[in-house]
Amino acid sequence: MNYTGQYNEVSTLTHELGHTMHSYYSNKTQPFATADYATFVAEVASTFNEVLLNDMMQKKLKDDDMRLSLLMSMLDGFKGTLFRQTQFAEFELAIHEAAEKGTPLTGKVLTQMYGDITRKYYGHDKGVCTVEDNVAVEWAAIPHFYMNFYVYQYSTSFVASQALAAKVLDGDKEAKKRYIEFISSGGSDYPIELLKKAGVDMTSSEPFDKTIEAMNGIMDEIETILDKQK
Ligand SMILES: [Zn+2]
Repeated sequence: MNYTGQYNEVSTLTHELGHTMHSYYSNKTQPFATADYATFVAEVASTFNEVLLNDMMQKKLKDDDMRLSLLMSMLDGFKGTLFRQTQFAEFELAIHEAAEKGTPLTGKVLTQMYGDITRKYYGHDKGVCTVEDNVAVEWAAIPHFYMNFYVYQYSTSFVASQALAAKVLDGDKEAKKRYIEFISSGGSDYPIELLKKAGVDMTSSEPFDKTIEAMNGIMDEIETILDKQK
C-alpha cells in the first residue's frame, strides 16, 4: 500500500493487518483443509482492528478539532460500510431478481435501478440529500458487482466486529480470548457458528443494535463539541 503516515493510511494498514492476523492465526492453528475462512467473516478482523484504532485515538486526542475530525471519519466509516454496502447489496439482489424474470440487463435498466435505490437510501424524495442524476451510473465503476453477492458481508462483518470489539473494549478478558479463538478457527465450522462461539449471534438483532448505539454515541459527541464552539 501507499503509506505516507496520513491517518487514512494508518487506518488502512490497521485494517489490512486484521486480515493478516486472521490468516496468520488460522493458518497456524488449523490443518490446511480448514485454514481458509469464509467470505461471511472475511472483513471481521479487519474492521475489528479499525474499532480498536479509533478507540485508542479517541482516548489520546484532547483537541476538539482533532476529535471532530476523527469522529467524522468514524461516522464516514458507518456510512460507507454499513449503509452504502447494504445499498449495494440491495441493488445486486434487484439485478439478479430482474435477470431471473427475464429482464435484459442493459446499461439503461441498471442505471434506472441504481438511481432509484440510491435516491431511496439518501432520502432524495424526502429532501434529506440531493442525489445528482449522474450518480445513477455509479454501478458501472464498482467491480464487486461482477462477483456474486460479496458486498453484503462488509455490512455484516462491520456489525459483527462492532459488537465483538465493544465487549473486548469493556475489558472482558473472556471476550478477548474468544476473539483470538475466532480468528484462529479459519473455516472449521459454519461462519454463523464461529461468530456465535466468539460471542456474537448474527441471527439476533444485538450486533446491529450495538452498532447503532456506537453510531449514536459518536453523533452525540460531535454535537457536544459543536455546541461548545457556538
Ligand atoms: Zn478488508
